Amino acid sequence: MSEGPLAPVWDVPPEESAARASAARRAAHVWRRASVSQRVAALRGVWEAVRAKREEGLAVVREETGKSRDEAEILEFGPASLLVRYFLANASRILDERPAWTPWFFLNKRAAVRRLPRGVIGVITPWNLPFLIPFGDSFCAMLAGNAVLLKPSEWTTRTALWLEKTVAATGLLPEGLLSVVPGRGGAGEGVVDASDLVLFTGSLATGRRVAQRAASQLKPAILELGGKHPMIVLADAPLERAAAAAVWGACANAGQLCVGVERVYVESSVHDAFVAKVRARLAALRTDGPNADIGRFIFPPQLDRVQKQLDDARSKGAEVIGGEVLDRAGLRMAPALVLGARMEMSVMTEETFGPVVPVMRVGRAEEAVALANSGPHGLGASVWSADLEKAERLSTLLEAGIVGINEPATHYALGSLPFGGVKSSGLGRRHGDEGLLALTQAQAVLEHEWPADAPDPWWFPYEARKTALLRRLLGLR
Ligand code: ADP
Repeated sequence: MSEGPLAPVWDVPPEESAARASAARRAAHVWRRASVSQRVAALRGVWEAVRAKREEGLAVVREETGKSRDEAEILEFGPASLLVRYFLANASRILDERPAWTPWFFLNKRAAVRRLPRGVIGVITPWNLPFLIPFGDSFCAMLAGNAVLLKPSEWTTRTALWLEKTVAATGLLPEGLLSVVPGRGGAGEGVVDASDLVLFTGSLATGRRVAQRAASQLKPAILELGGKHPMIVLADAPLERAAAAAVWGACANAGQLCVGVERVYVESSVHDAFVAKVRARLAALRTDGPNADIGRFIFPPQLDRVQKQLDDARSKGAEVIGGEVLDRAGLRMAPALVLGARMEMSVMTEETFGPVVPVMRVGRAEEAVALANSGPHGLGASVWSADLEKAERLSTLLEAGIVGINEPATHYALGSLPFGGVKSSGLGRRHGDEGLLALTQAQAVLEHEWPADAPDPWWFPYEARKTALLRRLLGLR
């Protein structure tokens, strides 16, 4: 395993990108004819192949990201497996044509809603989960009957190419149904132009550009743009679980998770006990070796970004425990606990995306809720309390697309839950019925059954007698 990052994969020649876009378009025309059950059968086989070859995939993921084998398997392939199981079992319920209501005097007609594929879905993904996000989005897009043009991060393109190769080798899908377009931002723009809907995960600035480009072509974009997960720990919280969750939630994937814990508000009476537990757990984390709990940063500038936040916190009076740079070239740092954090510090307001647990003491739960809601983000949030009713009540006040009650952030793995943010954290949802349906277009069907050759009474000619009858039927009097 290489110590530091591999060189990024840059753009392929424009002709090659265009050829991949055409292959996806051709495959979309073939695939849209497959029934939902045919798609389920083919994609089940595809997953079996990916799962069977996952050691190979794990090696590529690890080479590109420096994660431990355990972390790569649990965070990347584990949730993928659950998503596959959920969506294969529920595809037919969600996607099959379903009857729709008609008024009683349409008793000779049938109404239904069909779900047509959109065509080509552009999947544009970041570097933090190079298998899970591209796979999860592509799998759902293909299940909904679409082809996929996948533009992975330039820092984790090898994983996407491995996925493309492994899927293609099954021979179960039309050629080019999952086509990868490597490259930088310009390749992403090409993907927006060549697709019918964009599924984007990345930064707010890029997401905004993607949304604008898509909107100018009247294409929808579903955006997931990161978060600043506030964890609210109440005085009666189960402290052992809460402390363990703060550490895992903030440091899993070396803190590079958009739903990860990014700030903790703790009620004053349990602050010190909570901090002691968090500190002990952070101290126990392994930071080197193949089984390290804390891997390296994946994107090189990230190390300095996180260090800058820690410097800012120190300069404003916080106590930072840990957080040392362990290996600059290898992009590794020790996890950090920030005590005495305040909202003036960037570590409490800007996405950190590193193994940092900033803790702020608060007087009351309501104060924590107000602080949690005070910024532009709204992806993950959680409330910790032994009083589930109170925690549930507070959680309804959180401006977040995903909330946990004594739970940090495992929502993405559950296909039954819609995943996405509010405010600047995103637009639209992945997963859940609505997430899968968003990858389709509704086609409304109205079919006249009998008498086969008779016109309807509301057609020409208009007559007073017919109008009087229709007035009754239509509930106008
Ligand atoms: P991150 O730093 O989390 O990867 P970015 O928002 O920079 O977040 O990138 C997310 C994805 O968007 C990457 O695959 C990147 O190459 C791609 N990208 C960057 N610029 C553009 C753009 N203008 N249009 C489309 N995709 C882009």
